[in-house]
Amino acid sequence: MARYQVIVLAAGQGRRMNAGKNKQLLEIDGKTVIERTLDVFEKDEWCDSIYVVVHQNEQDLMKELIAQRYSKVVKIVIGGKERQDSVRLGVINLEKQLITFVHDGARPFVTEDELHRLYKGTEQHGAAFLGVPVTDTVKQIKDGRVQTLKRDELVAAQTPQAFTYEWLKKAHDYAYEHQVYATDDVALLEFLDYSPVYVQGSHQNFKITNPEDIQKAENMLKINRLD
Ligand code: C5P
Repeated sequence: MARYQVIVLAAGQGRRMNAGKNKQLLEIDGKTVIERTLDVFEKDEWCDSIYVVVHQNEQDLMKELIAQRYSKVVKIVIGGKERQDSVRLGVINLEKQLITFVHDGARPFVTEDELHRLYKGTEQHGAAFLGVPVTDTVKQIKDGRVQTLKRDELVAAQTPQAFTYEWLKKAHDYAYEHQVYATDDVALLEFLDYSPVYVQGSHQNFKITNPEDIQKAENMLKINRLD
């Protein structure tokens, strides 16, 4: 059977949320965002083990939340200053050299079908990411000059992003050594001239970012229950 390990990131401060606490600890319909995210991986038979990256000040709280409920969580790792630092700390703590997923703890609505398609894409191409076609027209503004990008060539990248262990380790080692930062993990592969494959996901796999996203998530759950 296919087997992967996952690094779940929950060490951000979520300043845009303005909630006075980590957005992953906010509740959607009575359950915290991080529990909903971890539930998906705990239930997926293909998932072998989970590494959760948490903020130093929240380690006791997170341990309490995770203890006993999640048999697949093998390590709780303390995160770093930037998201990329947190991923790297996850990577250096991995115990197995399996295909590795990197996922934002703030995206609780990824589905098993998406995870399995992502795994297959990684097996074939070395790395894969979930994304969705952009629906807005995207403009690049540089030095006051506006340029319209071709919409049919653009996708918005989500997480999970998945890699063979070797590619993930190499990408993060390179970035650390050269002190280069990117806004997602597959972008680091570009420094190595490797290319990930795009796997179409869904808009339901959105990232809880702003206060109104909690309401959006609760509405989505309600609608899905009616189906
Ligand atoms: O801030 P943003 O929503 O882009 O963060 C994406 C994910 O990365 C979140 O799940 C957040 O908790 C995590 N993160 C982290 N360590 C950081 C910054 C963000 O684990 N230093």
